[in-house]
Amino acid sequence: MESFSFSIPQNIVFGAGSLKRLPELGKRIGGKKAYIISGPHLNKIGMVDKCADALRSEGIESEAFTETEGNPCTDTVKKAAKGYMESGADFIVAFGGGSPLDVAKAVAVVVSNGGDITEYEGVGKVKEITADIIAIPTTAGTGSEVTAFAVITDHSRNYKLTVGSEHIIPKYAILDPELIYSVPEKTAAACGVDALVHALEAYLSLAASPFSDMFAIKALELIGKNICPYVADRSNVKAAEAMLLGSLFAGIAFSHARLGNVHAMSHPVSAYFDVPHGVANAILLPTIVEFNALSDEGKYYDIYRAVSGKNIDSKDFSSGMLSDFLSKLNESLGIPAGLKTVGVSKDKFDVMADDAMKSGNILVNPRKTTKADILNLYSKAYI
Ligand SMILES: [Zn+2]
Repeated sequence: MESFSFSIPQNIVFGAGSLKRLPELGKRIGGKKAYIISGPHLNKIGMVDKCADALRSEGIESEAFTETEGNPCTDTVKKAAKGYMESGADFIVAFGGGSPLDVAKAVAVVVSNGGDITEYEGVGKVKEITADIIAIPTTAGTGSEVTAFAVITDHSRNYKLTVGSEHIIPKYAILDPELIYSVPEKTAAACGVDALVHALEAYLSLAASPFSDMFAIKALELIGKNICPYVADRSNVKAAEAMLLGSLFAGIAFSHARLGNVHAMSHPVSAYFDVPHGVANAILLPTIVEFNALSDEGKYYDIYRAVSGKNIDSKDFSSGMLSDFLSKLNESLGIPAGLKTVGVSKDKFDVMADDAMKSGNILVNPRKTTKADILNLYSKAYI
C-alpha cells in the first residue's frame, strides 16, 4: 500500500434546521458583522433574508452580495471583495450552490492578501486568511463546503482557474437538508450528477487512498440510491438528507484524491460555452468511463454495485455495464445528450483540449491521457 496522510480540518454541522446554529458559530469565530455571499435566485425567494434574520436574532449584523452567477468570473470576485472591504464585516457567510462558495473563497483570499485572484492561481500560493468562512450549501452538491479549491472563470482567456490552498477551507460547514427542498429540478439533477462524478473520479484517481476510498464509495451508494427520488421530489426528506450527505462525503473524498478527466475536460466546456458545471460533467461522464475502462483493475465493479444497488457476481460484470448505467441515469434525469445539444462548437476543440491538458486532474486520471485522447473524447461526446 502507498503511504498517505489525511486530515479533515473543518467543523461540520449536519441536520434539518441546523441553519439556526449560524449565529452561534459566527460568535464562536469572533464574528461581529457578516458578509453574506449568495446568488440572485436565493435572494429573490427570501432565503438570503432568512440567513440575515437568523444572524440578527443573536445580534450579528450583516450585509449581502447576491450577484454571483453560474461559472462565476474574476470581475465578480473583484466586486464582491470591494463590497466586503466597504462593509466593515469580519467574516463571510457563503450561502448557495457552488458559485457563491467559490466566490466566497476567492474573496477571502483577496481581502486577506491583496491583489487580484488571478495572482493566486495554482496550489499553495495563499499565505493566510483573515476573513473566516462559514459555508452553507443550498444544493447537493459541489462539496465545495469542505474542499480546499475555488474555481473562477477568467473571461480574458476563456479559462477556469483553480486556486488551491488549505487556508480557504471554510472554518465551519452547515449542512441543513431543509435548504435543498426548493432547488429547481434541473439544478438538482445537474448538481446531483456532479456529486456522483466527484465520488467516482476520486475513487478511480491515482491519488486515491484507503481513506478517500471509504468516503467515495459511501458517497456513491448514497447518491446512486437517492438521486432519482430526490430529483423527482426535492422535498422528499430522506432522499434530500442522503444527497446532502453523499455530496459532503464526495467532497471530502475528492479534496484528498483529486478528480480526473471528466473535470479536466468539463472546465473548458463551461469556460467557452457557459454550460453549467454539473451538466458539462454529466455529458462527458459515460464517454470517459468507457475510455478509462482499459485501466480498470476491479474498481468499476465496486462502483457499479454501489451506484446501482445491484449485488451481482463479479463474473457477470463487464465495464460496459457501468457506462451504460450512467448514460441511462443521465437520460432519466433529463440531462442533455451531448456537447452539440448544449451549443458547443467543434472549432474550439483544439483550444479546449490544450486547456484540459493544463489541469492537474489529467495527471491523476487512471488511464494515461494525451491531447489526442482528449480531442477524441470531445468528438465522441459531440452528439
Ligand atoms: Zn464538480
